[in-house]
Amino acid sequence: MGAGRFAPSPSGDLHLGNLRTAILAWLFARSSERAFLMRVEDLDRARAGSEELQLADLAAIGLSWDGDVVRQSERSGHYAGALDELRDREMLYECFCTRRDIAEAASAPHAAPGTYPGTCRNLTGTERAAKRELRPAALRLRTEVGSFAVADQLHGTYTGAVDDFVVLRNDGVPAYNLAVVVDDGLQGIDQVVRGDDLLSSAPRQAYLAQLLGYGIPGYAHVPLALNSHGKRLAKRDGAVTLAQLAVLGIDADGARSMILASLGLPTASLDAALDAFEPTSLPTDPWVFTTDPNALGTGKTIGWPS
Ligand SMILES: [Zn+2]
Repeated sequence: MGAGRFAPSPSGDLHLGNLRTAILAWLFARSSERAFLMRVEDLDRARAGSEELQLADLAAIGLSWDGDVVRQSERSGHYAGALDELRDREMLYECFCTRRDIAEAASAPHAAPGTYPGTCRNLTGTERAAKRELRPAALRLRTEVGSFAVADQLHGTYTGAVDDFVVLRNDGVPAYNLAVVVDDGLQGIDQVVRGDDLLSSAPRQAYLAQLLGYGIPGYAHVPLALNSHGKRLAKRDGAVTLAQLAVLGIDADGARSMILASLGLPTASLDAALDAFEPTSLPTDPWVFTTDPNALGTGKTIGWPS
């Protein structure tokens, strides 16, 4: 049996867009007879108490998961093991570049913004020793491809750039791309459902998964929730967290109903939605919120998709 997962970063309250992604991950996993795992991505920007609130909100809208919650902060040995393996295969190198160095370096004419131009790929031992005196090194993967293709249930075959991306940051924290791949690989996750802002990182992750001998998961990058200005939904956009909605008299069941309605699914319960769930008929457009306070009391539900 394979597994799907939801992997929140405990940096604040989940909003309706996050909860919608969580429900979708659950629907994809359960409708394909997979386990559904919960992983807290707390290597960076973790805020005290946030994990407890997020898990309580996920439970409040009716989600359940298999096994114990896994925390990235408790898995440093796994990341170190993967780095050791890549180092033994001479697939890592030290990079001393600042963000500004990378932005200012001339890169290939068609390279995506932020693509690493390979500045430190072939430094000599003497050059590296000199640079170590000035700045701690990040570790980058010495990639052997320029691009990689993944299969996505909503986007079809997606081919994206794979540059020499960072696997260990220069503050010693494993990079997101490394931690996600190691966790998914070791947890047996073969289905990754998450927001489509992460689609462009899937080729890098799939390439790394293959290098480390893990299976490449199937992907479903689902549309994000946007505010009325077309920007990614944020807490400042009005009543978008369960706590904010409660003030308006909308409880967790009501919030779940709003989310399921936005997906064109029955709103009575998660189980009813699961019975009707069909990945290929999901809306592919973003979920846009009208959060105009003037809509309050007009009979229109605030936060309802426009
Ligand atoms: Zn560099």
